[in-house]
Amino acid sequence: MTTKVLIFTDLDGSLLDHFSYSFDKAKPLLALLKEMNIPVIPVTSKTRAELSVLRRELDSDEPFVVENGAAVFVPEDYFATPPSGCISVDNYYCAQFSLSRDHWLTLLAELRVEFDGEFESFTSLGVEGIKACTGLSDDAAQLANIREFSEPVKWRGSDSRKLLFVQKLRQAGATVLQGGRFLHITGACNKGKALQWLYEQYQNLTPSEGKSGRFLTIAAGDGDNDVDMLQVADCAVVIRSPVHEPLKIEHENIYRTQQTGPDGWVEGVSWFLGAAERPLEMNSIEYLRKKLRSNFYG
Ligand SMILES: [Mg+2]
Repeated sequence: MTTKVLIFTDLDGSLLDHFSYSFDKAKPLLALLKEMNIPVIPVTSKTRAELSVLRRELDSDEPFVVENGAAVFVPEDYFATPPSGCISVDNYYCAQFSLSRDHWLTLLAELRVEFDGEFESFTSLGVEGIKACTGLSDDAAQLANIREFSEPVKWRGSDSRKLLFVQKLRQAGATVLQGGRFLHITGACNKGKALQWLYEQYQNLTPSEGKSGRFLTIAAGDGDNDVDMLQVADCAVVIRSPVHEPLKIEHENIYRTQQTGPDGWVEGVSWFLGAAERPLEMNSIEYLRKKLRSNFYG
């Protein structure tokens, strides 16, 4: 029986440094994983437009999950047969787990009547407002605003009014996720459901690999919106955050990193790939290559 590995990863604060957005420290390990045909699948709150830029920088041809699990995009030629329940969008098969952004904008427009002046959204802020709220560059703010399935909301009212606002959104069928700066309004989706769906596609559509064994899933993340994804993975890498409290999560196969960002990512992923018995400072790509061959691909 052969076991193949799938790595699902959050981006900001995990594979990418929380402050600089750099992933330089992870480049040697990413190159090794590519050489070994181990997919590294981005699972992020970012948009497809943001991912199209990042995937080029990451040199990634793998599927990816956008807007906190609202949709999975699989490159058209990735599997020999199309994944189930998808629509074709540009050069991708898209599995959609949320209604469109327009649906959530209509709902927010209705709530404006009752909560006038108490919230802004990406749409009402516009690119200039998004830049002011996030510190993003002009280009980055534009890409972040090309949303398809969700709408970030900046709450300006009191905490008690916010509870009421969130309650009304939930009653109307929205999922409301508290992010670092924004409330994210979307459908009944999360990163865990997206991982599960993609895992099933790998099992079903790569018979020579999936059916003869099973895929081992490793998930890496640093935030509350990663908990669902970490929970459904075989192995959970919790990346230490430089800005918030340790993540609250129980998992029978968990590794909490000592380092943050891409350093922590390399530390945690290496640990599960077979370098667990080795002191961290002795980890090297050559050693990992040997361990991967003997543990998974021998
Ligand atoms: Mg994160």
